[in-house]
Amino acid sequence: MKLNKLIFISAILLSFVKMLYQFESDKSVDIIWAAIIFLVGHNIFIKTISDFKKKEFFSEFSLMSIATVGAFILGEYIEAALIPIIYNLGELSQSYAVKKAKKDIQNLKQSKLKEVERIDEDGKLLLVSPLKIEINDRIIIKSGDLIPVDGTVENGKGYVDISSITGEVIPIYVKEGDEVISGSICKDTSLVIKASKKFKDSNYGKILATIDEASFNKSKYEKFITRFAKKYVPFVALAAIITLIFPYFIVENYVFSDWFYRSLVILMISCPCAFLVSIPLSYFLGLGLMAKRRIICKGGEFIDILAKTNKVFFDKTGTLTEGKIYIVSVQGFNGFAREDVLTEAQIAESISRHPIAKAICENVMICDYENFEAKEFPGEGIIANYNDNKIIVGSKKFLIKNKIDAPDLPETEFIEVWVAKNGKFIGRILLDDKLKKDSLCIGERLKKLKIKKVALLTGDTKIKAKKICELICGDEYHAELKPLDKVSVLEKEKENMNGSLIFVGDGINDAAAIAKADVGISLGKYGADITIETADIAILDGSPEKVTETILLSKKIFSIVVQNTSIAIGIKLLIFILGVFGEAHIWQAILADVGATLIVVFNSLRLMRA
Ligand code: ADP
Ligand code: MG
Repeated sequence: MKLNKLIFISAILLSFVKMLYQFESDKSVDIIWAAIIFLVGHNIFIKTISDFKKKEFFSEFSLMSIATVGAFILGEYIEAALIPIIYNLGELSQSYAVKKAKKDIQNLKQSKLKEVERIDEDGKLLLVSPLKIEINDRIIIKSGDLIPVDGTVENGKGYVDISSITGEVIPIYVKEGDEVISGSICKDTSLVIKASKKFKDSNYGKILATIDEASFNKSKYEKFITRFAKKYVPFVALAAIITLIFPYFIVENYVFSDWFYRSLVILMISCPCAFLVSIPLSYFLGLGLMAKRRIICKGGEFIDILAKTNKVFFDKTGTLTEGKIYIVSVQGFNGFAREDVLTEAQIAESISRHPIAKAICENVMICDYENFEAKEFPGEGIIANYNDNKIIVGSKKFLIKNKIDAPDLPETEFIEVWVAKNGKFIGRILLDDKLKKDSLCIGERLKKLKIKKVALLTGDTKIKAKKICELICGDEYHAELKPLDKVSVLEKEKENMNGSLIFVGDGINDAAAIAKADVGISLGKYGADITIETADIAILDGSPEKVTETILLSKKIFSIVVQNTSIAIGIKLLIFILGVFGEAHIWQAILADVGATLIVVFNSLRLMRA
């Protein structure tokens, strides 16, 4: 790369010297110009040769090569040199912008990494960054967590989801001694993993290190432009040939060099770089811009859809509410003391990252997993077995489903966690959480962005759902939903609707709904990894207001994309017409192409300052 720049700069200097000292017009002049052009355009010529080998005769590089050589043959040395110079300058500015956007995205992806619990030699738990995990360190992975380093299972058994690495959708069962690859997600239990590699050598670390535009989902618009360019190039190339030959039969004083020049101008216009580069570039810079605001968007596709959103559905716990749930009271039944109810619940909740689990387990960390097995049913509760005891915790519905005789207690305005031991109901834990500050009347603010419906989906009770719905100024609420119920509400909503629907959630119980929505958004740094991985957009700050910001940004980015496309096509069209009438120069044609790219870059950068 350095050598390239060196060659490029020295060639430009040489051409300045050349222009200052007009040599006599003899053969040496041609040779010096040929050398300059070769130096300045060597990267284009090399790419042309490799395109020809691949039988791609209509690439932007071959067109530029033909135009450069053509201009040289016509004795238009300065123009011949300007073609590669302007092209390379355009590339430079664009690669600068892309590099910057890439860096922003990369930084954000790194900061997405959550701390993990490492078990120290004396059995204590310590929160460490995945970057600090050493080989043979033991870490605790809980239900819904992403496994950050490659390793082997030392304790625990259950299913891990490897779909984000291999695409294999069926989860695999792992037990003690089995290997696990990083990037896979622990489905519904907890595991102790012994690291066999450091983060940077692990599968997941390597994936995070390579961020490449090609890995982003392309928008429909981008795909259309690529297809369009493929058809457009041969068409304009044909126009160039016609411009060269046809006038011979109708123009009186046909001068070959004159028409050859015009056809070169048209050839240069057929160079599709302006759209081929500018459209994906606009999207990519948009993604970089979002990254700056701590929003990870996984592709331009979602920007288009978000710009046309008219329904927003929110999960409640952890998304609209703080997720910092606290215990209000514990009730014991059937002869069980409150402490017993709490202790039993803590044992079961130790495998979960649910905000409820966090509240119940506060400061109690159980990591002795012998004779212990537990499984989380997202949005319902947990079933655990230890030392021949069976504990069930969860919603009242969940206990009834598991054939527990749950008494008819009046519904409260709190989050209710019911607890059963060995088939008998033993008590209830009532918890509460606060609404996030930004959630208050978020519905009204979304309506200003042409959102028609704002709704709430929750696994919680009706009383609680109604109260929160009023506070956020929502239009409707759906309560007592299991994860798949959330999906069916969305499915129904999507029938016969124009526009698109987004769902915002944070927990493992939201992953399915996030996958179903037109755009699934995960909110909050402490959201479940599985949800962040499934989401099309991951907002790392927990503020619901960021959803409004994301929609607004998408609208802006989309309108910039439309502007950029019109600019690129408009400039081309103008030069094309001028070219046919012999009013445009080759350097203007290439400048139009690169100029359009530059305008696109600056137009997109304008957003960054917004
Ligand atoms: P939301 O949809 O609002 O995020 P959840 O689906 O996470 O709420 O939870 C709904 C209900 O399911 C809770 O009120 C609780 O009764 C029960 N529940 C879900 N997960 C757990 C858990 N880990 N422990 C105990 N109860 C749970
Ligand atoms: Mg939630």
